[in-house]
Amino acid sequence: MAERCQDVVIGGGAIGVSCAEALATAGRDVVLLEQHAMASGCSHGNAGWVTPCHSLPIPGPGLVRQSLRWMLRSDSPLYIKPSLRPSLLGWLWRFYRHCNEKRQRQGLAAVAALNRDVVSMTGGLVERYSLDCEYQPRGLHYAFLSEPGFQKGRRECRLLNEHEIPGEELSAEELLAREPALTRDVVGGVFYPAEADFVPDRFVEQLAAQLPGLGVDVRTGCRVTGWRLSGRKIEQIETAGGPLVPETVILAAGAWTGRLARQLGIRLPMEPAKGYSITLDPQAGLPTRPLNVSESKFGVTPWEGGVRLAGTLELAGLQREINQSRVEAIVRSAREALPEFSATGVQEVWTGMRPLAADGLPIIGRSLRCSNLVMATAHGMLGLTQAAITGRLVSDITTGRSPTLDPVPFSPDRF
Ligand SMILES: Cc1cc2nc3c(=O)[nH]c(=O)nc-3n(C[C@H](O)[C@H](O)[C@H](O)COP(=O)(O)OP(=O)(O)OC[C@H]3O[C@@H](n4cnc5c(N)ncnc54)[C@H](O)[C@@H]3O)c2cc1C
Repeated sequence: MAERCQDVVIGGGAIGVSCAEALATAGRDVVLLEQHAMASGCSHGNAGWVTPCHSLPIPGPGLVRQSLRWMLRSDSPLYIKPSLRPSLLGWLWRFYRHCNEKRQRQGLAAVAALNRDVVSMTGGLVERYSLDCEYQPRGLHYAFLSEPGFQKGRRECRLLNEHEIPGEELSAEELLAREPALTRDVVGGVFYPAEADFVPDRFVEQLAAQLPGLGVDVRTGCRVTGWRLSGRKIEQIETAGGPLVPETVILAAGAWTGRLARQLGIRLPMEPAKGYSITLDPQAGLPTRPLNVSESKFGVTPWEGGVRLAGTLELAGLQREINQSRVEAIVRSAREALPEFSATGVQEVWTGMRPLAADGLPIIGRSLRCSNLVMATAHGMLGLTQAAITGRLVSDITTGRSPTLDPVPFSPDRF
């Protein structure tokens, strides 16, 4: 006999857990299904930044030329594994059509609006539940190692400033005075003061640990295997723990969402965009706060218990194999930017798949093609950043409250 439920959230990453928290707080009965353990997907080993200054969508002017050059090198910051997979080719076609100034500016306006209160909302969750995750609203630095990189960074900073995301340009001397660990070859930098960071898996696991107290039925090791549809409605969810009859389904399965949506007849232009991180024991001679080295597109986050280098973007399908040449590329870039960096005391080498839509924007909302389905996915580089606001929006949409902000730019039906 199938079990009746009100809201079923699929996915125990930052997004699913935040949605479950927001729905339960709004008085809903929630079941949360996770196929493995909480925070075992992309929300585990990322850089841990709550970062409105990353509001510019990835597709942008100049990226086509740059990525064609990068495609030839398997250790470049962006790598596309050669493949004739039709879904990848379709995704690339849409992605490249968004690589222009007009579309990037439109995307920025939508994402900046979504990111407006993310730092205070995330800090609010940390405070409300006393989450022990080293949450620090300490801002972050961008460092540029070339004049063209610095020019591009200044342009981006001005664009972000137009959307009330504060950023302050720094000369090489000013940046080196703040972060003496950087190479003397640095050309300039930007300080973004309104950013925060935390240890991501601790944030997600500890927030998930609060859910049973809010009445959420959390089921780990419970994989969704299929659906039974009745017209445009999900009548039944097939899971490893037996069938469920949901009132509403919230699909927050990260990089796996595209596959689950396809089984419902919904094609989302999403690709898994793999990234890597290396976590090491704490060491001297490293930055004092989060640092993004722009040209090599990697970030450093220093915490009490260790330091994490994270970066790269690889389109290689849905697989979590570690490509050693990409790990080594991050280490090489770290040595170039931080002369005292030493690749010793490795705690973890990790890879995770960012769910990335072809236009670089998240997918949040109901789909016209399925009447009791709400999507919460495709957050790309910003899944932690946007977890709290996504939870709020999903709760507004599910309960029929008027939404906190205009959800139209994030509609699953926009493609
Ligand atoms: C190197 C790197 C650095 C990053 N740094 C940052 C950063 O600093 N700040 C930031 O905001 N973002 C960052 N990101 C992006 C961020 O990690 C992701 O956007 C975010 O983790 C996505 O969260 P999610 O909950 O959608 O997906 P996930 O965390 O992947 O969660 C999805 C969950 O769904 C589960 N699932 C899948 N299929 C099923 C099924 N059939 N049944 C049940 N459960 C299922 C999975 O097991 C998984 O646990 C980074 C990413 C990478 C790779």
